[in-house]
Amino acid sequence: MASRIVFFGPQGSGKGTQAEFASHALRVPVIATGPIFRKSIAEKSELGVLAASYIQHGRLVPDSLTIEMIRKRLQEQDVNNGFVLDGFPRTSAQFNALWEITTMDAVVVLELSDEEAVSRMGGRRLCANNHQYHLTYKPPTQEGICDVDHLPLTIREDDVETSIRERLEIYHRETEPLIEQFRVRGTRVIVIDAKPPIVEVRKSVATALGISL
Ligand code: AMP
Repeated sequence: MASRIVFFGPQGSGKGTQAEFASHALRVPVIATGPIFRKSIAEKSELGVLAASYIQHGRLVPDSLTIEMIRKRLQEQDVNNGFVLDGFPRTSAQFNALWEITTMDAVVVLELSDEEAVSRMGGRRLCANNHQYHLTYKPPTQEGICDVDHLPLTIREDDVETSIRERLEIYHRETEPLIEQFRVRGTRVIVIDAKPPIVEVRKSVATALGISL
């Protein structure tokens, strides 16, 4: 069974949710760069201070910082049996750096139109511990409150229209071509329609990866 998986998909495709699901089902950690950066910003760590303005404006954090962060993370013991990547690699430099560290078993691509992505992102909410919700597709039990830790839910600072458009543009220009790079190097690429409800997409992900629900 594949256990080194990378998720691709535009903002709003449910990539974070599906990557979490795969990580639990496979009992391997999820390594999600966006949440790591947001945590670093909240903690005002050195990485957070350096990354903050890029993230706020919907731009990519420089490769040097991002690659170093992932390189360190992939040296930890808990990734020995596999891991799920969410949000990395996003550029060809990141792809090359990852390839030097390890090969991946499968790439899961969640496909969604830009129109749908923009409309979905308007409803995204999250708590300070990065538990994610959507007002329509994954609402919390109590309005505005996280089900898990009861913290208030907020809108991500970069989920504003201009930043959303910028991030989608970067996704198509810089990140999407990497899928082909994986394919030509022999990594299995699984393409899944991300338009159906979360549970349906989850079933497709599970079937494709051979994991039970
Ligand atoms: P995400 O939560 O995956 O949408 O990421 C939020 C933001 O974090 C992105 O818009 C980027 O500014 C930054 N970020 C996340 N992953 C990367 C990456 N692999 N390379 C550069 N910047 C990243």
